[in-house]
Amino acid sequence: MKKTESYKGFEQGPIRPPSEADSLLIRITRNCPWNRCTFCPVYKGSTFSLRPLEHVLKDIDLVRFYVEEILNERKTGRATPRRGYMSLSPLSSDSGKGDMLALHAAYNFVSNGMRSIFIQDGNSLIIKPDDIVRILKHIKEAFPGVERITSYARSHTIARISDENLQRMADAGLNRIHIGMESGSDKVLKRVKKGADKATQIKAGQKVKRAGIELSEYYMPGLGGRELLREHALETADALNRINPDFIRLRTLALPADAPLTKEFEAGAFQKMGEVETARELLFFLEALEGITSTIKSDHVLNLFQEVEGVLPDDKKRMVAPIKEFLQLSPEDQMVFCIGRRTHCLARLRDLKNPRLYDYAQQACFDLGATPESLDVAVEEIIKQFI
Ligand code: SF4
Repeated sequence: MKKTESYKGFEQGPIRPPSEADSLLIRITRNCPWNRCTFCPVYKGSTFSLRPLEHVLKDIDLVRFYVEEILNERKTGRATPRRGYMSLSPLSSDSGKGDMLALHAAYNFVSNGMRSIFIQDGNSLIIKPDDIVRILKHIKEAFPGVERITSYARSHTIARISDENLQRMADAGLNRIHIGMESGSDKVLKRVKKGADKATQIKAGQKVKRAGIELSEYYMPGLGGRELLREHALETADALNRINPDFIRLRTLALPADAPLTKEFEAGAFQKMGEVETARELLFFLEALEGITSTIKSDHVLNLFQEVEGVLPDDKKRMVAPIKEFLQLSPEDQMVFCIGRRTHCLARLRDLKNPRLYDYAQQACFDLGATPESLDVAVEEIIKQFI
């Protein structure tokens, strides 16, 4: 007989999208049920599991309890020591494990205005539709003021959910889904073991839109390597043109030590591109986006151009301008920009025109011993510090 899992307290998973920094995180599954994408180190070595429904509901109740205590404290001016709340809570696990986490989550949630909730981990929509609807309803009952409930989901999973069930989730409050499309090229998707082809990515994206749920699609510049640069850019743009997601989020490829793709790179089986080639790919991609009204977001530290943000089609010209300008710079100035941006001496390409900032960035190149020829090696070293 299968042993029933006992409640071990409030849990949180390891990641959330950058745009969910202010959100309360509610973990409904652990890790990723697929876990084979070669560029993704996040859940490698961890086993996927579903959390029992009643444990998730208990987590929500626990945070709600702390939120009410915090709001009451603010209203009455009564200061309860943080640990004092825990002895008050009738909902804690036997060990009290996870309570401090729940209390911190409640504090963050209250401080950020209690507007958004992100449900974790890597593919939450894999649980039974009835269960997710129940969780969403419970969240809405506990926090009626919440404006946004968001989740990560795989295209493969969404493509198998009926339109009716997706609509039930939307009606219960799920109003944004983040999909890691990464690429629209079947060759790239197969190589990186994404577990979804282009047709599935398009089908899933269109289903989410049909359900009236806001859709964020992630594109990973660089994932096709040097060999598939053009195909990766154009096929991804084509897939997105067929979906018209609300957001297209850029997340440039990095190679963390524990990602299988890093081993391929070290063995010479994957040709990672440098800054200039990746910029060229990004330009191909942006120029191929046609007939859609998506908002482009460059909300990740790994992206070279944080100014590539705007709403299509009106801002397209403005978004491609800095990339074109960068590609026309001398190798020396390209290096100063890349190192300057990666070391935070510069934020945007136009900062190169500020003599004081230019000097800082040039000094950073000197300190790192970077030359135009060794630029990409120097950048890799810097990037290792923040992945
Ligand atoms: S589906 Fe997402 S979380 Fe899972 S391995 Fe792939 S990228 Fe990582």
